[in-house]
Amino acid sequence: MTLRLYNTLTRREQVFIPINKKEVGMYTCGPTVYWYQHIGNLRSYVFSDILKRVLIFNGYNVKHVINITDVGHLTSDADEGEDKIEKAALREHKTAKEITNYYFEIFEKDLKKLNILEPNIWCKATEHIKEQIELIKKLEEKGYTYETSDGIYFDTSKLKDYGKLALLNIENLQAGKRIEIGDKKNKTDFALWKFSEMPGKRQQEWKSPWGIGFPGWHIECSAMSMKYLGETFDIHTGGEDHIPVHHTNEIAQSEAATGKKFVNYWVHGAFLNFNNEKMSKSTGGILTLSELNNKGYSPMIYRYFLLTAKYRSQLNFTFENLDNAKNTYERLKRTISSLLENNEKSKNADDKRINEIYLKKFEEAINDDLDMPKALQVLWELIKNEHANGKIGTIAKMDEVFGLDLLKQEKVSAIPSEIMELVNQREEARKNKHFQRADTLRAKIKLLGYKIDDTNEGVRVSKI
Ligand code: AMP
Ligand code: ZN
Repeated sequence: MTLRLYNTLTRREQVFIPINKKEVGMYTCGPTVYWYQHIGNLRSYVFSDILKRVLIFNGYNVKHVINITDVGHLTSDADEGEDKIEKAALREHKTAKEITNYYFEIFEKDLKKLNILEPNIWCKATEHIKEQIELIKKLEEKGYTYETSDGIYFDTSKLKDYGKLALLNIENLQAGKRIEIGDKKNKTDFALWKFSEMPGKRQQEWKSPWGIGFPGWHIECSAMSMKYLGETFDIHTGGEDHIPVHHTNEIAQSEAATGKKFVNYWVHGAFLNFNNEKMSKSTGGILTLSELNNKGYSPMIYRYFLLTAKYRSQLNFTFENLDNAKNTYERLKRTISSLLENNEKSKNADDKRINEIYLKKFEEAINDDLDMPKALQVLWELIKNEHANGKIGTIAKMDEVFGLDLLKQEKVSAIPSEIMELVNQREEARKNKHFQRADTLRAKIKLLGYKIDDTNEGVRVSKI
């Protein structure tokens, strides 16, 4: 079966064809580790994880690289302002290394909690200064750079197709007033190397052929991705905000340096919105995974919530939406847990055939540009189908992509399926605010010798 992906470069869905038959090189722009990653950032990594799992499901070996921006990302994407890491170090009275290690560790733990598969390679910008300098030297030799009072810049007017990823209208941009030009020749030019204003004052600075300073934000991704995946590789991912500046500049400098196409498929995840705008630190309203957990929403509930939307659609975060996801996820887990209790096995060839049909439908959904809402619908249909005996194996296969711990049994004792059915009915009644019915069901469950506790992690059922 063929996998189709929406490629931002061509603005259409394309059949995915890797450079090497069974190996896929994939690079994901990682976090700038100066603060907690919020659940909006994490949506971006759940999306790339689903993409990676779908590739694996299709039989590919994926070499996945995620970078860690631990220097050079300035408070303004237009190469101005302070270095976010240096600023955080001053704020927290810590060294830059302490800051980046601290926030990276939290990020890594959040990824684990969300069942995001570890990349094959983590790479930090500060550990690849040599590679970045080499790349800038190459660009200099080819005549793409110039020097200003504050650094070495890339001359975007030297590239005929600059801005092709974002379909930027360069003439309009040049005429517009929004972007400060300073000493730059063109508004879209960007820093490759920034000089330290007062050498010795910054915590993170290095010697270079152009003077003491630090690399610009974009060059790290070009240098590290090409080091680990080659000058042309298959897939590059990131959030949609990276299209007009960061990824546009990555393409410009990489293709100028090598004369080759940089990346074949650019795949971008849409925003998580909060109060109808992009969740971001600058607009104030952010939430972290730990905050959600403290409010009774486990990471798996958040992952389920994310999978109810297509990765290319913006998703509005509200607690009401999250509550819906929580109820549905818990119902799913309870139903699967009673299937496990009953150890229901496939009985005949017909069962096998029915399960195969569902798996095929599932595969069609995930290969249709990662249509996870559709894939979840297929899972629910399978679960509800009483004629599909032996569905546990199929659910396990699907969960290799969902990554929702569907078969992990948490603190469940042997609860008979009739009891679980009553528990489900009570949950449904509570959801619909039919509290009297919910109480009646609870009493019935008690009469049968079981008790229910409503905990932060959901409903617990145990023998009295
Ligand atoms: P940063 O640490 O700012 O470089 O962001 C890390 C990743 O999160 C990038 O891929 C961003 O595109 C992505 N991102 C930032 N805000 C959001 C959001 N509200 N929803 C989804 N992704 C986001
Ligand atoms: Zn990047």
